[in-house]
Amino acid sequence: MLSSGVILATAQLDGGLVEGVGGIVLGLFLVPFIANGASHFAITVTPPALLFILCSVAQCTLPELARGLLLYGSAVVVAFMQMRIAIAIRFHALTIERKLIRDATHDTLTGIHNRGWLAQQAALAFSAARRYRTELVFVMLDIDFFKRVNDTHGHQVGDEVLKAVARTIQGTLRESDHFGRFGGEEFFCILPHTSKETAMQCAERIRQAVAALEVQSADAVVTVTISIGLAAMMDADGSWEDQLKRSDEALYLAKQSGRNCVRLSD
Ligand code: GH3
Ligand code: MG
Ligand code: MG
Repeated sequence: MLSSGVILATAQLDGGLVEGVGGIVLGLFLVPFIANGASHFAITVTPPALLFILCSVAQCTLPELARGLLLYGSAVVVAFMQMRIAIAIRFHALTIERKLIRDATHDTLTGIHNRGWLAQQAALAFSAARRYRTELVFVMLDIDFFKRVNDTHGHQVGDEVLKAVARTIQGTLRESDHFGRFGGEEFFCILPHTSKETAMQCAERIRQAVAALEVQSADAVVTVTISIGLAAMMDADGSWEDQLKRSDEALYLAKQSGRNCVRLSD
């Protein structure tokens, strides 16, 4: 649009097209900032190029036309290269931005969501459940005697167990559930639109799946169990933190009850 405007304006003056080539070229150099691909670039550049040729043929002598076209052609090539560089820079910035967002919301060891992200989702799920009067269950999970795994098999094997447990829990959940690593060997699930009966069945499924898990280390097959505490949203919960606290208390109860079991906060 800008190039076309400059071309039309300069074409009105006697010999203006040749004098205005600088302005036309300048207009062209703005194209790389809006074009995001070869075809887009061609579509943007072709109408002013045709207009420039038409006006030049009508107004300029042959040597002037040749000089003008040469300059215009060189500017198109430079603008195209500029566009490629602009796209590469934009792509690089986008990749970095995506990585930053991922790092801020995911746990580096297991690749699942981290505590910060879980806190955000828990707050959102809590206010949505309150507002629409729907059910919501928080589930706190903690691997039993995990320190022993590290002490017996080493920290590296401990890390492999954490990754395997995370994959196993994730595999038993629905797409609409939120799940992540809450801390060391603690995980947390948010089950929206879920009754406590269904949540208990789900937790029991997780418990059994983790108990059946076998992680191969260099010299042994490592097995672990998990204790689980559940809290269904209650009217008395003033905030998501209250419900979280109750799921933590239920987990404590599961530990007190001998571990490898599920307990519900009442
Ligand atoms: P409990 O059944 O009472 O939960 O016992 P526990 O041994 O699981 O609990 P404790 O809190 O005593 O120990 C947790 C251990 O988890 C200690 C810590 O070294 C380990 N841990 C925490 N984060 C990581 C990690 O990222 N990798 C590994 N390998 N170990 C971790
Ligand atoms: Mg533990
Ligand atoms: Mg713990």
